[in-house]
Amino acid sequence: MPAVRNVLVVGGGAAGAAVAILLAEGGVAVDLIDSKPDVAVLGSGITLQGNALRVLRQLGVWDEVKAEGYEFDTLGLRAPDPAGTLIAELTDIRTGGEDLPATLGMYRPALARILIERASEQGAKIRFGVEAAALDESRAAYDLVIGADGLRSWTRRQLGIDVEPQPVGMGIWRTFTKRPASVTRTDLFYGGPAYIAGYCPTGEDTLYAYLVEDARDRAGLSPEEALATMRELAGAYHGPWDEIRENLTDPARVNYTVFESHVIDGPWNRGNVVLIGDAAHSCPPTLAQGAAQALEDASVLAELLLRDDALTDALWQEFTARRLDRAKTVVEASLQLARWQLTHERGDVPGLMARVAHLVAEPA
Ligand SMILES: Cc1cc2nc3c(=O)[nH]c(=O)nc-3n(C[C@H](O)[C@H](O)[C@H](O)COP(=O)(O)OP(=O)(O)OC[C@H]3O[C@@H](n4cnc5c(N)ncnc54)[C@H](O)[C@@H]3O)c2cc1C
Repeated sequence: MPAVRNVLVVGGGAAGAAVAILLAEGGVAVDLIDSKPDVAVLGSGITLQGNALRVLRQLGVWDEVKAEGYEFDTLGLRAPDPAGTLIAELTDIRTGGEDLPATLGMYRPALARILIERASEQGAKIRFGVEAAALDESRAAYDLVIGADGLRSWTRRQLGIDVEPQPVGMGIWRTFTKRPASVTRTDLFYGGPAYIAGYCPTGEDTLYAYLVEDARDRAGLSPEEALATMRELAGAYHGPWDEIRENLTDPARVNYTVFESHVIDGPWNRGNVVLIGDAAHSCPPTLAQGAAQALEDASVLAELLLRDDALTDALWQEFTARRLDRAKTVVEASLQLARWQLTHERGDVPGLMARVAHLVAEPA
């Protein structure tokens, strides 16, 4: 018999939906609530590394993800010159195993929909538009409460854990638009007016493109001003960017976000309440590992809850042992990449990326 008979999952992002799928499949009664009115309606793209794909396959959604997304195995490095010169083509490590691609880009709302539908199919009871309230009542009513409620986790604050995400010093412009035929993988342009200008194909006809700059207060810009600002910054980048910039016409598709980061150092549970995903740790997306780590948290937590027959200290110790160091290493490496850029230092970027890839290639 599993360690829990019923759970409340707060938050239906990657972490919450994944743990709901696995627990419901294992016979646990799962209630999932999310404060959003509905599964995401609009959004940008997401880069899923092999280790994220390995968990998505475990969740039984790989075929759908593969059909919606765009797979690739190399990373291009380009110069911020008038030709967008390709400097290097690196073969990515297949961190999910040889039978999965190194990377897959996809539309975020499509991923969210696939995961929520799967959780529902497995029997999880899902309610959108419901804000978490009264943690003490929930922890009395359920064997376990899983706080998968993201960066500004309500559950984390209710537990009195006063670790909050801290600004990294960078901000990112993102857009979701048409894929030029020449874009068949992610290319990163280092240098020029942005720290990084990049793009990732997300499907046959789509891609998301991004520009990373010093963090600024962009909240006062109208959507039209935001679009004009992104287009202007993109003007320094060429090659495929020339076509991407031409397609950048919809103000509603432009988004600005500042990078933040945190890690809760120590057990992520307090009694029968546990935090996973961005609620417990977050990193700047310099390695595109945030969702991957959230999915791994869900996979390991579900494995332990379904294997053991009680919620014991030993279970929580094992969860901490398998997750804390790994997530922390990923957060620190992601921060190191950001710092090297902020201080214009020439760090060993390929070396650091390879070290993390080898780490996450081992199943969590
Ligand atoms: C700019 C940017 C780019 C990124 N790019 C990538 C990338 O390419 N690849 C990658 O792997 N990662 C990327 N990440 C990180 C990734 O987005 C996150 O790590 C991942 O989404 C975390 O998933 P989660 O389920 O923990 O949290 P979330 O996806 O934030 O889900 C939390 C859910 O909880 C709900 N919620 C919040 N509060 C409450 C409440 N009180 N009651 C009920 N529900 C609540 C929210 O509505 C939300 O649906 C990026 C992050 C940023 C900021």
